[in-house]
Amino acid sequence: MTRPIWPNGARCAVALTFDVDAESPFLFQPGGETRPKTLSMGTYGPKRGVPRILAILNRHRIRATFFVPGWTIDNWPETTRDIARAGHEIGVHGYLHEEFSTLSPEQQRDCHERSLAAAERVIGHRPVGVRPPGEYTPETLRIIWEMGFLYDSNMRGDDRPYRVRIDGKPTDLIEISPHWELDDGPYFSFGFGSGYAPVRIQSPETAYEAWSREFEGYYREGLCYLLMTHPELTGTPGRALMLERLIEYIEQHEGIWFATCEEIARWWLKSGQE
Ligand code: ZN
Repeated sequence: MTRPIWPNGARCAVALTFDVDAESPFLFQPGGETRPKTLSMGTYGPKRGVPRILAILNRHRIRATFFVPGWTIDNWPETTRDIARAGHEIGVHGYLHEEFSTLSPEQQRDCHERSLAAAERVIGHRPVGVRPPGEYTPETLRIIWEMGFLYDSNMRGDDRPYRVRIDGKPTDLIEISPHWELDDGPYFSFGFGSGYAPVRIQSPETAYEAWSREFEGYYREGLCYLLMTHPELTGTPGRALMLERLIEYIEQHEGIWFATCEEIARWWLKSGQE
C-alpha cells in the first residue's frame, strides 16, 4: 500500500474541517421554515459554536477548512468573514444544504454556482473546494471536475488523498475523504423531527476515545487524518473542551502537518502523487 509523501518530511497530515450548516439543512426540509425551535438548533452553530472554535484554532495557530452552504454565507456574512479573516479556508457545501441525490445535473451546477457567487460577494474570492451534502449522483464528481474545482471532500473510499478518475482516467481533481467515524454527527446529532437521525447523544469522552485512537492508526501509517465536525454540535462548551484536548494530544506527536484541504490538494498535485 502506497504511503503518502508529505511536505518537509512530515509524517502525517491533519485537516480539521467544520461544516457551518446553520439553519440550512432544516430549511431544505419541507415546512422547515415553520419550526422555530428546530431552526434555532442550526442558529447555535454560527452564533455560538463558530466563535468558540475560532478561538481554539487561534490559540493553537492552526488553519482549518470551513465548508459553508451558500445560504449560510448569504445569511451569516459577518461570521463567514470572521472565519476567512482568521486565515481559514472556506469551501462550499451546497446552497441550501440540498440532498444532492435529489438534484438534476443542472440543479447541482446551479447550487455550486450560487454558492461560489455568494462567497465572492462576501469574502472576495471563489472557493476551490466543495463538499456536496448527502449522497452523490453518478454525475456529481464529473460536474465538480468540469467546473474546475481543485478538490472534493465527501467520498469515503480512501484515507489518503487521490486523483478522481473520470472515464477511467485520473484527473487533476483531488478527493480528500472524510469518514463517518471521524464525523461528529453519529456521536452528537439528536433531534425529534428535525431531519437529524434520532441517535443517542454520546459523551464527549466517547468521541475523544474514538478520534484519538483513530489518529494513532493514521499516524502510524502516515495518512491524511480528516476530522469533520459541525459548530452546532462540537461547538458546545464541553465538546469544545474535548476538541481542544484532542488537538493538544495530536500536537504531542512529531511530524504533524496541520493543513487546510486546499493546501493538501495542491501538495498532492505538485508532488505528483496518484
Ligand atoms: Zn452539512
